[in-house]
Amino acid sequence: MNIILLGPPGAGKGTQARHLVDGRGMTQLSTGDMLREAKDSGTEMGQVVADVMAKGELVTDEIVIGLIREKLQGEKTAGFIFDGFPRTLAQADALGALLAEQGESLDAVIEMRVDDEALVERITARSTCGNCGEVYNDKTKPIPADGVCSNCGEKAEFKRRADDNAESLKQRLMEYYKKTSPLLGYYYAKGQLERVDGLGDISEVQSAIAGVLDATAS
Ligand code: AMP
Repeated sequence: MNIILLGPPGAGKGTQARHLVDGRGMTQLSTGDMLREAKDSGTEMGQVVADVMAKGELVTDEIVIGLIREKLQGEKTAGFIFDGFPRTLAQADALGALLAEQGESLDAVIEMRVDDEALVERITARSTCGNCGEVYNDKTKPIPADGVCSNCGEKAEFKRRADDNAESLKQRLMEYYKKTSPLLGYYYAKGQLERVDGLGDISEVQSAIAGVLDATAS
């Protein structure tokens, strides 16, 4: 089963994708994570995208489609969770073509709905475990005082993303509404769009997504 988690920055796509990886053996394909890796490893492509990401703008379609193409040619798993991809109509078309080349298809597109105020609050308060990627929030789920991650049990370094600040968030939201939100209509018209409320507890959102996946599989 191949699915897209679609929603603005801070909707909880990464958190839910990790649960699906643990629970269903699916593979998370996050273009944001791939680009951050390229940036940290100092590759030529990483240097090109660093500036664009810091500003909260979108990296070119060509680069992200190339990253996804490489991953899809890898080992087959229980299915892919596209997290943060596609973000433009050109990327959505390319994904359809890449999946078809592999004899695969898209089974569901899940929109995670969260209102804008909640997004700003979530993002400016978020940090992640440098070891396993577990997401913390200064207000609702603070970093444990002993510095040991509650998910992986390791003493970890907790990181804040360079682009999780009010200024670049404004740009990221703008990019979402201008370039990514048309995908909702695109997938609705294809009969593939499902919606879940992304505002609830992590476990409530998890159950809603499980409901969609189970209904799609049956
Ligand atoms: P994310 O971790 O998904 O929030 O992505 C972080 C940043 O990486 C975004 O603000 C963009 O600059 C870039 N990025 C990630 N995925 C894409 C994509 N599919 N298309 C263009 N830029 C992307």
